[in-house]
Amino acid sequence: MLVDSHCHLDIMDKQYSLEAVAAYVEQAKANDVAYMQCVSINMQDFPKILDIANRFDNVFASVGVHPNDRIEPEVTQEELVKCAADENVIAIGETGLDYFRSSGDLEWQRERFRTHIAAAREAKKPLIIHIRDAYDDAIKVMEQENAADIGGVVHCFTGNVEDAKQVIDLNFHIGISGIVTFNSAADIKEVAATIPEHRLLIETDSPFLAPVPHRGKPNVPAYVRYVAQYIAQLRDEPLEKVAAYTTNNFFNLFPAKR
Ligand SMILES: [Zn+2]
Ligand SMILES: [Zn+2]
Repeated sequence: MLVDSHCHLDIMDKQYSLEAVAAYVEQAKANDVAYMQCVSINMQDFPKILDIANRFDNVFASVGVHPNDRIEPEVTQEELVKCAADENVIAIGETGLDYFRSSGDLEWQRERFRTHIAAAREAKKPLIIHIRDAYDDAIKVMEQENAADIGGVVHCFTGNVEDAKQVIDLNFHIGISGIVTFNSAADIKEVAATIPEHRLLIETDSPFLAPVPHRGKPNVPAYVRYVAQYIAQLRDEPLEKVAAYTTNNFFNLFPAKR
């Protein structure tokens, strides 16, 4: 059994439909992907994500605003905590810092990140953190806000072994996506091969970042299988073992009901 710890079922197609979501969930099941975490990126679409999680037993939701989406008014701690009250909402995020796609003075990103950490603390739900080209600052904010008390995952990890060590020392898990299968991803391969197994989660980030052999095409939760297979090869472990500990890690970290 596999878990896709990070996907976006609500933005898979240009035209959203529940029938299409049901088909992705069925396709995942047929590939032994028994559970999926559908991650929120803005507040407008949160009701849709919660609706998906309520309809499908094997899909969970989160609530949060992606670091790149500028919004007016800014999301509040109160709003996040209120949305997180539903038992199908198992995490706060995705939140974090992304200096790749935003420029200028990014204090607003750091402020929003702090708001999410405070909300996670109040809601008692772990964080899903997105970091791109901003590891030093993200670690700084996580330290300042004592995010280690809350824990969570740094998803779609793209740092090096030293970054991974800092993330793990801060009580966070590492989410490995399909990028690990790309030829250019030497650092991520090294991270995936060497981190302790109890800190490893796997994800697709569907519809983005399809793993080899589907690179460049739309990604689906079923493809988390390729991520698991690749990691099993890297670590010289049977696929069943990687599947078992990444699934256990997911359910130990998040308050998700099987
Ligand atoms: Zn992300
Ligand atoms: Zn995402």
